[in-house]
Amino acid sequence: MINYNRHNIDETDIKKVVKILRSNYLTQGPSVKVFEKKFSDYVKSKFSISFNSCTSALHSAVAILNLNKNDYVWTTPNSFVASSNCVLFNGNKLDFVDIDSNTGSMSLYELKKKLSKTPKNKLPKAIINVHFAGVANRQFEIWKLSKKYGFKIIEDACHALGGSYLGEKVGSCRWSDLCVFSFHAIKSITTGEGGMVTTNNTKFAKKLELIKSHGISRNIRNINNKGNYLVYDQKLLGYNFRLTEFQAALGINQLKKLNYFIDVRKKIATYYFQKLKKQKLEFLTIDKNVKSSFHLLVIRVSKKIKKKLIEAFLKKKIFVSYHYIPIYKHSFYKKIGFKNYKLKSMEKYQQECVSLPIHTKLKFKEIDKIIKVIKTLT
Ligand SMILES: *Cc1c(COP(=O)(O)O)cnc(C)c1O
Repeated sequence: MINYNRHNIDETDIKKVVKILRSNYLTQGPSVKVFEKKFSDYVKSKFSISFNSCTSALHSAVAILNLNKNDYVWTTPNSFVASSNCVLFNGNKLDFVDIDSNTGSMSLYELKKKLSKTPKNKLPKAIINVHFAGVANRQFEIWKLSKKYGFKIIEDACHALGGSYLGEKVGSCRWSDLCVFSFHAIKSITTGEGGMVTTNNTKFAKKLELIKSHGISRNIRNINNKGNYLVYDQKLLGYNFRLTEFQAALGINQLKKLNYFIDVRKKIATYYFQKLKKQKLEFLTIDKNVKSSFHLLVIRVSKKIKKKLIEAFLKKKIFVSYHYIPIYKHSFYKKIGFKNYKLKSMEKYQQECVSLPIHTKLKFKEIDKIIKVIKTLT
């Protein structure tokens, strides 16, 4: 059996977690702060605020923009549902921009076209740019558009931790307002479940810190040198979206191995590229300004071949995947108004895409098996 993705946990990870389980703090202790600091050191952002998932991080990132009910947020349909659910959690209006089928990410051309055609009162107040498969998507150009049209940018970088754009690590927020990451088991690094928001905006960082912990701010007061006591006040309606101490300890240790993990993924991707370059199939293109984190290895084949490939893989117990079902096609989204919604490139891409296994525990012998199946059909 070959899985398309898998976590990588070693003995050092286990030791770090156990150490916290034997300590005084299981939550709200020092490890979370250390993890956030080290994360900022890695991506070169001013602030990192941890969350218990990327879904709660996205929820909060949209919430702190203080949008009105009728304000629009746009994103790509080729993503996990959390990328757009976060708009709905906050009661804002949602719309999608078609993708570039060469990258699987939001199309810059379609974005420009849609912006120029949209009446002023319906222009988006924020755009959620998903770096599909680990390839940072047109950050500089979208940043320039944000200045012209006045929208905020949230990067959904769940696939792209460890990647970079124009020499800057994804998460630096050089060309965005906020950037979110996931530490779900199959992402670049894991804390089981977990997430992070990075930003260089002090106001946003403070608000995120509040919203993830009930909206409560805490202060230590010292009364006439008679001792310290804690005062707290709920400033806004918040949640409990906190990461635990043992998850943070796992995150700190995983972060040390991030560059190694990306190297392994890159080697695997390069192997696929080499061995399959003569086949009748397409790989996604990687912009020359981008260093990919190789989260997904997508190939595109004709609709007919895709069906045959799926059957052949299943027979050999090779589990591939498909990224993604267009978000607007889920029955919930159909119910809330996307019933007859269709975006042309997204529809075509969906019929052709297959995500091949890629993860740090994958063996070259297993990749050869996968390649053999593909070669019989392309
Ligand atoms: C994994 C993922 C999410 C959700 O992250 P969780 O940590 O599982 O909540 C959101 N967006 C994208 C693109 C993802 O891949």
